[in-house]
Order: sequence, then C-alpha cells, then structure tokens
Amino acid sequence: MPKVDVGAYVANSNSGGTDEIRNPLSIWRNTVRVRPEEYAVIRFIDEGGDLSRYHNIPGMTQGGARFTNYTYCTDVNIKSDGNPVRAEACPHCMSMDPDIKKTTERFLGWIFHYGTFHTEQNPRLDREGQEPWDEVKRGQKIFYRETVRKPQLFAASFTLYQNLKTIRSEMDLLTSRNFDYRCIRSQDRTSYNLGFSDTQLSYDFANEITAISQDLPDIEGIAAGIIIEVDVPQFSEEGDGYTMSSTPDSQASVAREEVAYDNMVSSEATDG
Ligand SMILES: [Zn+2]
Repeated sequence: MPKVDVGAYVANSNSGGTDEIRNPLSIWRNTVRVRPEEYAVIRFIDEGGDLSRYHNIPGMTQGGARFTNYTYCTDVNIKSDGNPVRAEACPHCMSMDPDIKKTTERFLGWIFHYGTFHTEQNPRLDREGQEPWDEVKRGQKIFYRETVRKPQLFAASFTLYQNLKTIRSEMDLLTSRNFDYRCIRSQDRTSYNLGFSDTQLSYDFANEITAISQDLPDIEGIAAGIIIEVDVPQFSEEGDGYTMSSTPDSQASVAREEVAYDNMVSSEATDG
C-alpha cells in the first residue's frame, strides 16, 4: 500500500496536468513520448544535456491510471558556484514519506523528432487539421507513421541515460546517427530503450539541425522549470525553411485530447 493517497497529488501536478496537456507550447507537449510497442525516430541535436535530481511523485489520471510525476528538486540541484539553480524551498524534501523525499537523477536533452511509428491509427482524426497517419509494413508488423519533424525534448531515466553513454562511447559524434526510441512492455513492466535506427529518410535535415541547435532554449532552465514554454518550428518536407504549427487548441477538442493523452500518460507508470 502506498503511504499517501496517490490521488492527492493530482491537483498539484505540474506534469501531465490539464494545463500542460491543453497548452501546445508546454514542456510536456514538446517531450517525445512513446507508448508500448511503438518507437520514435530521433537524432540528438547536440552532445549536451541536463542531468538533475527529481522526486518521483505518484499521480493518477482522470481515467484512474497511475503514473509517476518527476518533479525537479530545488534543494539538491546546485550550480557549479554552489548556489541553487532555482532559489526556492523544495516542498518534497520536507515530506515524511521516504519514497517522496528521495531523489533520482534524470537526463533531459534536445533531439530532433522525425516521427513515430504507432501501433494504431491517429486517435484524434475527428479534430480539425488532423490527418491520417501512413500505414507502413515493417517485417510482420503494421505501423502508422506520424511525421513530426520538430526539435523536441528527450527525457530519460538514469538507467536509459547510462545505456546512451555506453552507445556514445563507441561513436565519434552522438549527432551522427539516428536512433529508435522504443517503449517495451513485458510482464507488467514498461521500459524504454535506444538503438541505432535503420529507418530510411528521404531527407535527414542534418544541416538544419546543426543550425537550430544554438537557437533552442537553455536545457538547464527547462529542466529546472524556469522555462515552462517552448515554441519550436516544424521543418518543411524538403528542409528549406519551416512552418510554425503551434495553433492553440479549441476548447471543444480538449476533452478528446485528454482521453488520448490519458492513455499515453498511463504507459509511463513504470520507470525505465
Ligand atoms: Zn527536493
């Protein structure tokens, strides 16, 4: 039995909360997510990233699915000069529950998200501006390919970060290859992994990715919650120029979207 009522944290949740789901500029909406048996094709934008400590706060979606809300700790994350990155007291460090009080390291970095191979067709097809995803066969499996073509955030557990470091040690440049970022579900446990991608791209946007790296918001500021919105461009098909696609959602679409993201959040129930 959990020591606290997990439902009690929903109202204070900063990750996956209604506002974050509703706002297309939110960090949550701009973080690449994969559901079980799906994978995203990504490329790291630069070598850097943020490694900070977070509290693992249990939460529950409106649909009753449990998930973990990783909350940045404002007490233990300090800059090289010894001052806190964000000068405010961390409420979770004062918790009487040791599971809430403890912190774990997580990685956050910028990646270019080419697209995701889903196991099901676009669930938001009834929404204006939504298009069906291309049906593609890979081996024995049918996938629905969503094209994204945007810089996005990549969040990883410490375990996955360690795996990435091992792969990195055998590469000249982290930014030279594409990766498949996969979610695997087996025996009630969800895990995530990274492996070299063999997806053929008609255009890899290598030059555009290099060019945009210096314009992206500071990753440490995003991790710390100092920057809470990002407005990233969507690259056009051929790479020359790009179009902005952050049209705010209409109220009517929010409910439907919440159901779709509900399912997505629940796949994050277990750390990987
Ligand atoms: Zn803390």
